[in-house]
Amino acid sequence: ASRFAEVPLAPPDAILNLSTLYKADTSAKKVDLGVGAYRDNDGKPWVLPVVRKAETAIYESQVEHEYLPISGLKSFTDAAATLILGGDSVAIKENRVTSFQSISGTGALCLGANFLKHFLPQGTIVLLSNPTWANHKNIFNTAGLEAHEYVYYNPATLGLNLEGMLASLREAPNGSVVVLHACAHNPTGVDPTQDQWKQIADVMQTKNHFPFFDCAYQGFASGDLDRDAFAIRYFIERGFECSVAQSFAKNLGLYGERVGCYHVVSRTSEITDKVRSQIARVSRAIISNPPLYGARVASQVLNDPQLLAEWKESLRAMSGRIIEMRAQLRQRLVELQTPGNWDHIVNQIGMFSFTGLKLAQVEAIKSKHHIYMTGNGRISMAGLSTRNIDHVAQAIDDVVR
Ligand code: PLP
Repeated sequence: ASRFAEVPLAPPDAILNLSTLYKADTSAKKVDLGVGAYRDNDGKPWVLPVVRKAETAIYESQVEHEYLPISGLKSFTDAAATLILGGDSVAIKENRVTSFQSISGTGALCLGANFLKHFLPQGTIVLLSNPTWANHKNIFNTAGLEAHEYVYYNPATLGLNLEGMLASLREAPNGSVVVLHACAHNPTGVDPTQDQWKQIADVMQTKNHFPFFDCAYQGFASGDLDRDAFAIRYFIERGFECSVAQSFAKNLGLYGERVGCYHVVSRTSEITDKVRSQIARVSRAIISNPPLYGARVASQVLNDPQLLAEWKESLRAMSGRIIEMRAQLRQRLVELQTPGNWDHIVNQIGMFSFTGLKLAQVEAIKSKHHIYMTGNGRISMAGLSTRNIDHVAQAIDDVVR
């Protein structure tokens, strides 16, 4: 008999399941609003022109394929730290930052979770926003950390429940790890304002909580790399120690190449040296050393002023298209006099919008109109285009009436 005979069948991953259903749908009208990947106005993946240029340069320079150090490609990790913490970061100048190349944002979260599990006091809990990216709980639980929720979203206003959030942070045990979406909150698209971040920082400082920023959308949210890094830089300026999980999946369109970085900012450079030595041990055990290719591509872009400038243009193009789709969707719903207020579509930011559609409406829009979104009513704005937006608006109108 198999030793695995008693292994229970795990439920299918909700997003991957949605993709399978979408692919199987033969309707010409079908629309995929599930997957969190950028699509152009023709619904096609977009390889950024700077990525193509970087690839050509790498190919022509006849690179070798030796192992990287445990911490990764230094020209990449240094540039990644500067990108997220800022060119004038005092923490970088004072050698208080350690950066490890990771398997994209997920790998950075995983590395961080394993490091924190070993070196924070026994019993330290992790607080995740309610709701949050579905993989967060998985990652922290797998590392052996207990995950709890903090209030975040207010279904009544389709916006932030700041008072609820601050109350949750006050009620949590002192010194908890708080996972914060640096920008473009997934799945809600609801971000705190700069003033609200200040209030969050006040409570977290009083409670000695540890911020763990998850930054999967820098530059992709507003189109401005610095603006999207505001919260992280602000907390560091206020003297917080913190962790950052940085992904280049969306902003460079390097999804499958798994390019990311895990950064830890500590109080002194001596502490940073010790932290670095221990993260190296953790990363060695998990991946030994990170993959080269995507890091080389990102390094080329980040370290070449010309490519960097072109990348910023592409970021504005991607975020601009999404912001335009938000405006057009809201406008159509207003014109159709669809019951309800649709301002949240334009107030939310980033890849996703929480439409407010209920599960029954999500099911109806799928079966009647061939439009695919997650059960919580989240839509990927990148799936909208000038070609399908009328159909989507009419379908939303139909299912909410
Ligand atoms: N964190 C959030 C909030 C995300 O939305 C994502 C991707 O969807 C990730 C992290 C990690 O993505 P990746 O591992 O592809 O960088």
